[in-house]
Amino acid sequence: MAEHESLEYGKADFVLLDNVSMEEFMGNLKLRFEKGRIYTYIGEVVVSVNPYRAMNIYGRDTVEQYKGRELYERPPHLFAIADAAYKAMKRRNKDTCIVISGESGAGKTEASKYIMQYIAAITNPNQRAEVERVKNMLLKSNCVLEAFGNAKTNRNDNSSRFGKYMDINFDFKGDPIGGHISNYLLEKSRVIFQQEGERSFHSFYQLLRGAPESLLRSLHIQKDPTAYNYIKVGGQIKSSINDNADFKAVADAMKVIGFTADEIQTVYKILATILHLGNLTFGVDGDVTLIENTKLVSVIKDLLSTKEENVEKALLYRTVATGRDVIEKQHTTQEASYGRDALAKAMYERLFCWIVGRINDIIEVKNYDARVHGKNTVIGVLDIYGFEIFQNNSFEQFCINYCNEKLQQLFIQLVLKQEQEEYQREGIPWKHVGNVILFLLFVQEKQVNTDIMPLFQMNAGCVFLRPKALLFESFVLRSTLWLFSLQLSPTDKSLEFDRDFRIRHYAGDVVYSVVGFIDKNKDTLFQDFKRLLYNSSNPVLKRMWPEGKLSITEVTKRPLTAATLFKNSMISLVENLACKEPYYVRCIKPNDVKSPLLFEQERCRHQVEYLGLLENVRVRRAGFANRQTYPRFLQRYKMISEFTWPNHDMPSDKDAVKKLLKGCGFDHDVAYGKTKVFIRTPRTLFSLEEQRAEMV
Ligand code: ADP
Ligand code: MG
Repeated sequence: MAEHESLEYGKADFVLLDNVSMEEFMGNLKLRFEKGRIYTYIGEVVVSVNPYRAMNIYGRDTVEQYKGRELYERPPHLFAIADAAYKAMKRRNKDTCIVISGESGAGKTEASKYIMQYIAAITNPNQRAEVERVKNMLLKSNCVLEAFGNAKTNRNDNSSRFGKYMDINFDFKGDPIGGHISNYLLEKSRVIFQQEGERSFHSFYQLLRGAPESLLRSLHIQKDPTAYNYIKVGGQIKSSINDNADFKAVADAMKVIGFTADEIQTVYKILATILHLGNLTFGVDGDVTLIENTKLVSVIKDLLSTKEENVEKALLYRTVATGRDVIEKQHTTQEASYGRDALAKAMYERLFCWIVGRINDIIEVKNYDARVHGKNTVIGVLDIYGFEIFQNNSFEQFCINYCNEKLQQLFIQLVLKQEQEEYQREGIPWKHVGNVILFLLFVQEKQVNTDIMPLFQMNAGCVFLRPKALLFESFVLRSTLWLFSLQLSPTDKSLEFDRDFRIRHYAGDVVYSVVGFIDKNKDTLFQDFKRLLYNSSNPVLKRMWPEGKLSITEVTKRPLTAATLFKNSMISLVENLACKEPYYVRCIKPNDVKSPLLFEQERCRHQVEYLGLLENVRVRRAGFANRQTYPRFLQRYKMISEFTWPNHDMPSDKDAVKKLLKGCGFDHDVAYGKTKVFIRTPRTLFSLEEQRAEMV
C-alpha cells in the first residue's frame, strides 16, 4: 500500500501530483524510472517507460498478485489493466479493448505480449483442452507474424513494420475460444530497400541462416545474404536476433497452427523468388529490352510453377487495352525494373496478408451459438505504429501519422466525451475547467487536420507535385489546403519548394517529401503479374492471386489508391474501437541507445507532450477518479462502517453510501449520481482501500 505515494518511489498516479506541471510530471516519471518503477497511472491509463532490461515482474507470482484485484490495490502494472479489461468483459459483459501507443521502440509489442500472456495465465482454470489449444494458437501466431512483419531498424532490433489489432473472443465462462487478427499497412518498401544499419524482414535472414542445406539447394539459394541485392544493405548486420533458431521456431509454429506442408513450402518459394527477382537486371539490344541473367528466369519459373516464357513476358511486356484492341507494349529497362520491384513488394505483402488470413481461418470462432453458450465477448489489443518524424518523411510516415491522428482523436473523444456524458446521465454538475475547454478547442482544431486524406481521392497526384500552380491558380484548392492545415507556403524557407509539404500534426510539424509519394499511393502492379501468379500450377500460390483471373479487357475499374484503402481500414478500426470500453497503455522510450540507465529528459518530455499526458492528468483531476454503482461500492466497502456492516437499514443503497462516506470524512470529495457514487481524488480511494484492508 505504501507505494502509492512515497518519497522514495514517487507517485503511482500522476493525478496525485501536487501541481500539474510539466516539471513535476517529468520529475515523477524520471524518479520512478530510476527506481525501477516503469509503470505509472493516470487514472486508468498506464504510462510505461521502456526499461531496456529484463524485469522480474511478469512471472507467475506477479500474475497471482494481480488476478482479480482492483486497479488501485496493487502498484501500477500492465497486468492490472489487463485484469480490469478482463473483469469488465466478464462481469459486465462488455467488449473491451486495450490500445497501446507510443513511438517505435517504446515497448508496445512487448506490452501487448505481456497482456496476452496474462490473459492466457488467468483463464481456463479447468484446463479444457479446446481452450488450451486456442490459447496456444494465439500465442504461437505472434512468432509467425513477427518473423514476416518485423525487422531490425535503427530504433528497434525487432520493430513491427505493420499495425496489428487482435480480437480475443471469450465464452460465457470467460475462457478464450478464438480470435481474429487485423493487420494494417505493412511497410513493403522494406522488401526492396533498407536504410543503412537496417535489415529487411526477419523471414529472409531466417531462411538463409536457418534452413537445411537441402531446402536451400531446392530453392537455389545460397547462405550469404550479401549475394542478394534486395537484402544486401542489411546483409552484414549482426543483430541480437538468432535467425537460425528462429527459423525452426517459426517453422514449428506454422505447423502447430495448421499450415500444411505444401503451404509452408510455398512460403519458402515465395521468399526465394523475391530474392532472385532482386538480382534480375535488364538491358537493351537495339530497341529490344531483355533480361540479362536468363538463368535466373529459369529458377524463378520453377519456384512459381509456371513457364519460362510467361515469366519473361510478364517482366518485359505490358498488355494494354486500347479501345477494343489489346496490344503488348514493351517496357523500357526502367519500366521493367519498376515492374520487377513492384512484383517483389506485392508478392511479399500478399504473402503476409495470406499468412494472417490462414491464421484467422484457424483461430476464428466457429459454430458459436449464443443461445447455447451465452454471449460471446471480446477483448481487443491494438499494437500499432506510433507517430513518426524522420529526416526524410514519405508516404509511409504520412499514413502512420494519419493513423495516430485518428487514434488520438478517438482517445480524446472517449476519455473526454464519455466522461462528460456520464456526468450528464448521472446528473452530476460538470464544471468546465478552463484547461478542459482549451483542450477541447485544441481537439476540434486538430480534427480538421486529420481529414486531409480526401485530397488523395482527387484525381492526379498533382496536388503535391505542382503545389505552386494549385496554390496560386485555384482559389478553391487553396482554401482546401488551408482548411486541412496543409501549409504549402512558398515563403517557408525550410521547405524545398515543389518537393516538400508540411503538415501540422497534433504531435508536431512534419515535413513530407513528395518524392515517390504518388507512385506509392497509386501502388500499381501490372495486371500481367497478377495473371502470371494466378496461372501458376501451384494451387497455394494461385489462391493468393484471385484477381489474376481477369483478362485485361475486364479490368476496367481504377483500383483504389493505397491511401484510400488505408483510410478506410482506419475508419473501420476506429469504429470497432469506439464501441468497446477502452483501456490505454502509453509507452515512452527513454533514450535512443537502448540503455537501461539513461533517461533523456528532453526526449521524454517531447513524448509526454505529444501523447497529451499532461492534459490527460488535468482532465482526470477536473473530473472524478473513480465511480462505482452504489451496490458495488457497498459490496466492497461496507465492512469499514458500522452503519453498513453487515447490512444497512437505509431506504436505499445510495443513502447508505452517503452515510458511510460522511462517517469516514470523505463526503467533501465525492458526488452522488443517480446510480453511481463519484470519487474525485485517488487519495480517497486509496484510503478506502487501506481501511478495507485493515478490516478483512
Ligand atoms: P515497439 O513495439 O514499441 O516498437 P518493442 O515492444 O518491440 O517496441 O520493444 C523494443 C525493445 O525494448 C524490446 O525488444 C526489448 O528489448 C525492450 N523492451 C520493451 N519493453 C520491455 C519490457 N517491459 N521489459 C524489458 N525490455 C523491454
Ligand atoms: Mg512493435
